Amino acid sequence: MNLAIWLDRAGAAHGDFPAVAIGDRVFMTYDQLAERAARLAGGFTGPLGLKPDDRVALISENSADYLECLFGIWHAGAVAVPANAKLHGRELAFLLEDSGARICLVSAKLADQVREHLPETVAHLIVIGGDDYDELMFEDPLAVAPRAGDDMAWLFYTSGTTGKPKGAMLSHRNLQAMTMGYLADVDEVRPGDTILHAAPMSHGSGLYALPHICNLGINVIPESGGFDPAEIYDLLQHWDRVAMFAAPTMVRRLMDHETDLGTGKLKNIIYGGGPMYVADAELALRRFGPKLTQIYGQGESPMTITVLTRHVIGDERHVRRRERLASVGLANSMVEVAVMDDTGDPLPPEEVGEICVRGDAVMLGYWKNAAATEKTIRAGWLRTGDMGCMDMDGFITLKDRSKDVIISGGSNIYPREVEECLLTHPDVHECSVIGRADPEWGEIVVAYVVGSADEKALDAHCIRQIARFKRPKAYIYVENLPKNNYGKILKTELRQRDQARSFP
Ligand code: ATP
Repeated sequence: MNLAIWLDRAGAAHGDFPAVAIGDRVFMTYDQLAERAARLAGGFTGPLGLKPDDRVALISENSADYLECLFGIWHAGAVAVPANAKLHGRELAFLLEDSGARICLVSAKLADQVREHLPETVAHLIVIGGDDYDELMFEDPLAVAPRAGDDMAWLFYTSGTTGKPKGAMLSHRNLQAMTMGYLADVDEVRPGDTILHAAPMSHGSGLYALPHICNLGINVIPESGGFDPAEIYDLLQHWDRVAMFAAPTMVRRLMDHETDLGTGKLKNIIYGGGPMYVADAELALRRFGPKLTQIYGQGESPMTITVLTRHVIGDERHVRRRERLASVGLANSMVEVAVMDDTGDPLPPEEVGEICVRGDAVMLGYWKNAAATEKTIRAGWLRTGDMGCMDMDGFITLKDRSKDVIISGGSNIYPREVEECLLTHPDVHECSVIGRADPEWGEIVVAYVVGSADEKALDAHCIRQIARFKRPKAYIYVENLPKNNYGKILKTELRQRDQARSFP
């Protein structure tokens, strides 16, 4: 079934419910959003000649129009190619060319940059909200195009922290499974509940619009278009039962922000997308109470691999709570998760191997890249590239990306464990641990640190907490760490800079 049917139904049956808000103002009701998406779909298939399965690129910061564009694309039976608004023009050109999108919807703010790098494959560059866009709005709304579960809906380019971006092909069924997995495990959504889109909607967390549209929630777009802690605290006073996705760096910034305002009607901060260190999770619990849920997912199984629920996080009496907090929780209801060795054999509890996942949320494969698909989906299981283990109760603990594991003197060292340790030092604000090639050890452990604790103090701190061989052999102090616009530390870039010893 076509995902767009959810919005179509909501528009028909509950048209006067608020669907989209900007800041503290309702901007569109469900009938308005559904109608605009259907009229836009008419424009795509009529004048622009869009056919089912064609790709339409969507390049925009978070905005009130974002959802009508996304649903307009699906309504017409086409495939949305979301692109991160902060990518460089050349990176956007790669996405446009690789996806073969003939139509590109772009926000007014980004139009010039995209135009400058526009590949010839794009036939129509439409500025969202501009004259061409308004003309596309057909008089007669189009009926939702029929789609099968396995038809592609979302071509999502991985962020490329481990190489060139690859297009993960997500079907209508995949996104429906993601939605049901959210409603089953992450959060309940009642009509009028709010989802605050403070993270880029072009990323997986933008898909959290789906469970909210399915269950008549309100999609709130901050006035700033993005993440501004002061505005978030304000909006928490205004809207009811607010859920929001926040990458770990965003949670930290919310905690660092001084404010007299409380957390108001906050229902759930859903964090994930990168490691949240236990020390930070404990601080967050103190600040927000048991209103935190952790998710673990990746573009290839969007937002849907495991969940650490509020019930677990908030259960102060649980004897293994701290241990649980260090985990990413249990398998999401819509998928199976296993820990496997290289040959695909499942490993017993507590043994470290590669986290593998299968089920309806797992992508169809990589776009135009059969070799990468074959390598990544084996015997029906998606190999995540993440190393971890499962305990007797099914809780998964991630160790690290397999590519990040450091092998020093023949021993495996998981950078995350060293980072966890360093971060418990009060004078370390941020850190990232990588391996550096070394003739004697194979690799040595190098810690990049944002903070004022000196080497001696950090070494003594590590000796108290982790095995001696895991201690960093070198510390490099920096003002900040290279991150993508989701706040995720770019280890590949850090390693390259370290290799060139050109870190500023
Ligand atoms: P690329 O696949 O191009 O290298 P990427 O690693 O940033 O990019 P994403 O899909 O953006 O790919 O991120 C998914 C990865 O983020 C996961 O495989 C995992 O390593 C990490 N991750 C996601 N959620 C969590 C979490 N809750 N805790 C720790 N790590 C997480």
